[in-house]
Amino acid sequence: MKEQEKNNKPILVIGGGISGITAAVEIAEVGHEVILIEKEAYLGGHVVKMNNYFPKLCPPACGLEINFRRIRQNTRIEVMISTELVALSGEKGDFQASLRTSPLYVKNTCTACRKCVDVCPEERPDDFNYGFGSTKAIYLPHDMAFPMKYSIDDRYCKKENCNKCVEICEYEAIDLFAKEEMREVEVSTVILATGWENYNAGLLDKLHYNEFKNVVTNVEFERLLAPGGPGKGRLLRPSDQKEPKDIVFVQCAGSRDENHLPYCSAVCCPASLKHALTCQERYPGSRIRIFYIDLRVTGRNEDFLKRVEENKNIELVKGKVASIEEIPGSQNLRIEAENTMNAKKIQVETELVVLATGIVPNQPAIEMKTSRYNFMFGEQKNGVYAIACGKKPMDVSSSVKDATASALKAIQTLR
Ligand SMILES: Cc1cc2nc3c(=O)[nH]c(=O)nc-3n(C[C@H](O)[C@H](O)[C@H](O)COP(=O)(O)OP(=O)(O)OC[C@H]3O[C@@H](n4cnc5c(N)ncnc54)[C@H](O)[C@@H]3O)c2cc1C
Repeated sequence: MKEQEKNNKPILVIGGGISGITAAVEIAEVGHEVILIEKEAYLGGHVVKMNNYFPKLCPPACGLEINFRRIRQNTRIEVMISTELVALSGEKGDFQASLRTSPLYVKNTCTACRKCVDVCPEERPDDFNYGFGSTKAIYLPHDMAFPMKYSIDDRYCKKENCNKCVEICEYEAIDLFAKEEMREVEVSTVILATGWENYNAGLLDKLHYNEFKNVVTNVEFERLLAPGGPGKGRLLRPSDQKEPKDIVFVQCAGSRDENHLPYCSAVCCPASLKHALTCQERYPGSRIRIFYIDLRVTGRNEDFLKRVEENKNIELVKGKVASIEEIPGSQNLRIEAENTMNAKKIQVETELVVLATGIVPNQPAIEMKTSRYNFMFGEQKNGVYAIACGKKPMDVSSSVKDATASALKAIQTLR
C-alpha cells in the first residue's frame, strides 16, 4: 500500500472520556480523520459524573463543554456511541477494526421533547447515579449528555407489549426492533483511552460496603454531592435521606494492600481532600474525619492539603481502619481503627462513611500487553498506543497531557 493511502486512513480512538476526547480533537484539528468510539451512550467518562474537580474545584462542564464544541465544529471527527472494539488485525498504517454498536432504539429524528418519558410506565436503576434513584426505561443518561440522545434500556422495556412511547412520538423516532450493528473500518493507528473502573468495594469484607447503606464509595459520593445527583445538590445519606453532619473518609480502602490493589491510585487522597472541602463549603460546621496511612498529594494539590489542615472542622487521623459496624436503629456507623502515631485503638461513630477505593484499569476486549497490576503498556505494538489511566493512575490534567502526547505520536507514526 502506498504511504499516501496509509496516511489518509482515519485514526481510531477507543474510549470517549476526557483522554479519548482530547486525543480525538487534537488529531482532527491537525487535519486527520478520527473515529472516536465510546461504549456508553454519552461522552465524558468519569469526569462527567463528578460534582467538581481538583485542583480548582470547578464543575466538569468547565473542561468538557469546550471539547464538545470542538467536536461539533470539526467534521473530521466521527463519534460512535454505544460502540466497542471487537477485533483488531493488521499493522501500522493498515489496521482492520471490527466495531459493534448496540441499539439505542431512539433515532436521530428525536427532538428530546420527553413526551415518551412521561408516558413510559417502566423504571430502571439510574446507572449514571450508581443506582441511587431510578429513571424511566426510556431515558436521557444525564442532563448534560453529549450527544443529547435518549435510549431505551431493553432489560426493563416491555417493547411492543407496551408501545406507549411509539404511539406518543410524533417524529417516529422510536424503533423497538432496532438491532446491533457491526462495522469493519480500516484505520492507520489506534489509541486506547479506555480509562478505569473503581475497585470493587464489596471485596473488602470488614468494611461491609454491600450490607450497610451508609457506606458508599468515593465515586458514589461524587454523585451524592452533584447538582444532578439523587439529592439534586443536597447531600442525602442513602438509608434515610437525612443530610449527614458527620462524615468519615477511609483512605486506601483496598489500596496498597497485597490482598486487593497493591498499588497507590494517586488520585484518592486529593479526591477526599476535595470532598472534605466541598462538604465544609456546603455544610459549614459539619464534622469531617479522614483516616489515612500516608497522605499523598503533589504539585498544586499541596495547597489543597494546607487548606484542609487549616480547617478546624476537618480532622486528619493517621490510622488504618480495621472494621466498620452498623449501629441498629440509627444506621450510624462505628469505626474501629488503630492510631499509627501512638498504637492506640480508636472508636468513632459517624453518620456516613466514604471509602476511598482505587482505580482499576479498563481494557478493550482484545489481547493486551499488561504489567503485573494489569495496567497496559504504552506502546502495544507499532501504531497501537495505550494512554492515561489505562497505563497508570492519573488525574485529569496528566491524562490530558498524555492524550495530547499520544495524538502527536499517532501523527508521527503516519509521517
Ligand atoms: C473518586 C475520584 C475522584 C476524582 N476526582 C478528580 C478530580 O477532582 N480531579 C482530577 O484531576 N482527577 C480526578 N480523578 C481522576 C479522573 O477521574 C481521571 O483522571 C479521569 O477520569 C481520566 O480520564 P480517562 O478519559 O482517561 O478515563 P475515564 O474517565 O475512565 O474514561 C474512559 C472512557 O472509555 C470508555 N471505555 C472503556 N472501555 C471501553 C471500550 N472497550 N470501548 C469503548 N469505550 C470504552 C468508558 O466508558 C469511558 O467513557 C478522580 C478519580 C476518582 C477515583
